[in-house]
Amino acid sequence: MNPKAKAQNGAFTKPTYNYWTEDELNILFTHPELSAKAMVELLPGRTAEAISCKRKSEGRWNHPERVLCAVCHQRPVWAECTKAAKMLLCKGCYLDEQEKRVAEANRHNALRQSEFKLRKRLEKQNKTV
Ligand SMILES: [Zn+2]
Repeated sequence: MNPKAKAQNGAFTKPTYNYWTEDELNILFTHPELSAKAMVELLPGRTAEAISCKRKSEGRWNHPERVLCAVCHQRPVWAECTKAAKMLLCKGCYLDEQEKRVAEANRHNALRQSEFKLRKRLEKQNKTV
């Protein structure tokens, strides 16, 4: 509603805009995965349109210091590390994930090398026969 709209008696009406409180913003930015309709239950007094409008102006995902880890949901995202912030992971979960990835890459590499060696051995056998 237009805040400068005149009431019937000619007086200016009070603006109806309710400013977002810090608690509301924290709730909004700690649940970027939820849709605006789902957020209505968490933010009483806010409509889905108001929530999506606020997300458009403030950004939905780029608040790593407010967002909780996507894995443990307990610790804030490691904002200093851009990779961890992009993955929405806290420091511990990010380091666990990186260790897992390195271990998986090593496993894959060993498998690839053994396949290569087997293929070369078979090629050598075929040449000699
Ligand atoms: Zn975590």
